[in-house]
Amino acid sequence: RPRVLSGIQPTAGSFHLGNYLGAVRQWVALQESHDAFYMVVDLHAITIPQDPADLRANTRLAAAQLLAAGLDPERCTLFVQSHVPEHAQLAWIMNCLTGFGEASRMTQFKDKAAKQGADRASVGLFTYPILQVADILLYQANQVPVGEDQRQHIELTRDLAERFNGRLGETFTVPAAYILKETAKIFDLQDPSIKMSKSASTPKGLINLLDEPKATAKKVKSAVTDTDTVVRYDTAEKPGVSNLLTIYSTLTGTGIPELEQKYAGKGYGALKTDLAEVMVDFVTPFRDRTQAYLDDPETLDSILAKGAEKARAVAAETLARAYDAVGLLPAK
Ligand code: ATP
Ligand code: MG
Repeated sequence: RPRVLSGIQPTAGSFHLGNYLGAVRQWVALQESHDAFYMVVDLHAITIPQDPADLRANTRLAAAQLLAAGLDPERCTLFVQSHVPEHAQLAWIMNCLTGFGEASRMTQFKDKAAKQGADRASVGLFTYPILQVADILLYQANQVPVGEDQRQHIELTRDLAERFNGRLGETFTVPAAYILKETAKIFDLQDPSIKMSKSASTPKGLINLLDEPKATAKKVKSAVTDTDTVVRYDTAEKPGVSNLLTIYSTLTGTGIPELEQKYAGKGYGALKTDLAEVMVDFVTPFRDRTQAYLDDPETLDSILAKGAEKARAVAAETLARAYDAVGLLPAK
């Protein structure tokens, strides 16, 4: 079975619809066909200041949401990044292989640093794409299911894997991004020119899966569309409507042409009302399942402990090979 690896940050508490449609939904599907490793990336979360108690709670909450979304610990390895110290260890090696200019070209860093202010943005934020490189290479992943915003980081991972293999000997599998075109980028409901994001969206533009379903319905109904009334998928002319159609289509399995037909002559109101209902039907059981996992922290922690053990076995083997290839003297 080919291997997949991916991660999600335990920031902001709730996952948003972009996280689910762009990434987590694919994780659930891929656990059937792949040897799948999924993690809550707490080390990535601290690239931006986090309250310690919140971080701990949000890490459990993220794991609970992944299980609620359909990850099955019998079918995949689910763990917390910091439980596997090899991530930080391999990241150092990869840091030493990355050019400063190369790292400086990462657009996610530039966007996030601009938001923080140059003096406040941490060196950890600057090097987080390289930690991500280590995350992926440790598991010899063939594919990495992510949203479009991560494409550049997967490219960096490929470059560094090839560089390492070329200079020091065949060590890492060169991975490919697994990005589904339809859901690669879910847009902010209030500003369909930017991606829905934990850190950049305004509350009204962001569909948090754990919000009150009523609040979610309201956000869908007040989504920004355009002054026309024709329900048509056209990302250039109608980014807001197209975003709603993408969400509707993916959550219900209805093709977009079929939806265009269904709402022909009906206007945006009908589309939004129905989509609000679809959303409520989706988030309500998701919230309940998440809560059920949170109510049983012992089970949750034991799933994560088993996951970390499985992950470490793979990660330790890769790290040992990488240390050896670099020429680090083994401890006796
Ligand atoms: P931040 O803005 O703080 O980076 P985020 O919203 O991007 O947070 P992450 O935890 O960084 O959330 O991302 C988890 C996964 O969700 C990644 O694979 C990412 O590509 C994907 N993702 C995030 N936002 C979207 C979106 N709007 N559309 C599709 N996929 C997304
Ligand atoms: Mg992100």
